[in-house]
Amino acid sequence: MAKALKDTLKTIEHYKSMSPHYGELLDILEEILILREEYSRKMSKDIFNVDESLVETKLAGGFPIIDLSRIDFDLSEPKDYFINLLDIAKKRTPEEAREIIDRLDTGNLDFAELVRTNFASDETDMEEESDDESDVHIFDLLGFLIEESLRPYLESVSGRYAGAIARAHWSEGYCPVCGREPKIGQLKDEEGRRYLFCNQCGLKWNFNRIKCPFCGNEDQQTLAYFSIEGEEKYRVDVCNKCNRYVKTVDFRELKEEPNLDVEDIATLHLDILADEEGYE
Ligand SMILES: [Zn+2]
Ligand SMILES: [Zn+2]
Repeated sequence: MAKALKDTLKTIEHYKSMSPHYGELLDILEEILILREEYSRKMSKDIFNVDESLVETKLAGGFPIIDLSRIDFDLSEPKDYFINLLDIAKKRTPEEAREIIDRLDTGNLDFAELVRTNFASDETDMEEESDDESDVHIFDLLGFLIEESLRPYLESVSGRYAGAIARAHWSEGYCPVCGREPKIGQLKDEEGRRYLFCNQCGLKWNFNRIKCPFCGNEDQQTLAYFSIEGEEKYRVDVCNKCNRYVKTVDFRELKEEPNLDVEDIATLHLDILADEEGYE
């Protein structure tokens, strides 16, 4: 096991003891991270067939390197990863997980279709369609696992083009690799440079500190942030123009490098708070 993963698992254990109500989610994440490392290691090829000659032009024009709304790549490895990820779901929702595995086995359910639907649809719409609490829970975990099934493959792309992205001075609030919006970011270095994080491909990209990632608002009067007493290392940056928010982690005083997958889950109470304040 890589040292970074070991450290992350230690952090997860620590958070679990501090906030037992996050126990189940952190358990799930823990299992995912272990499996993710395994799949990252045995990844055989670049499934996205990125056209090198177009990368620079795309980035300069504000277009992400990969278009996730067009699933036209080979999904056999992500599918294999997904089936293994379903073991994690099987422990929590055995019947549903079993049903999906059976349907994938018999060809009754097409994995590509599952991925396509997930990336084509708006998650909140889906949640509203379902009245039953437990259904929402199941659906969310499933969506989470579908997204995770592409993560190692996207992560290899974000690793490969991190340099090109930095050179391109990407200034958009969505991810330059896969186009998804950030939920969390980080302040780094002495100057407190801000980085946004993409949960879908693991990329961190530099972004203007005083700017809303979602609407581009740079007016200080309508940009604000709040934090919880005693938890000043976390804050919620809000935009009063578009009413959206993004969480920000500042671990500079702790001299630690946060794992933002973990921090995103460990700060779900901030999402609840932002939601209560009317931010999306
Ligand atoms: Zn991304
Ligand atoms: Zn905004």
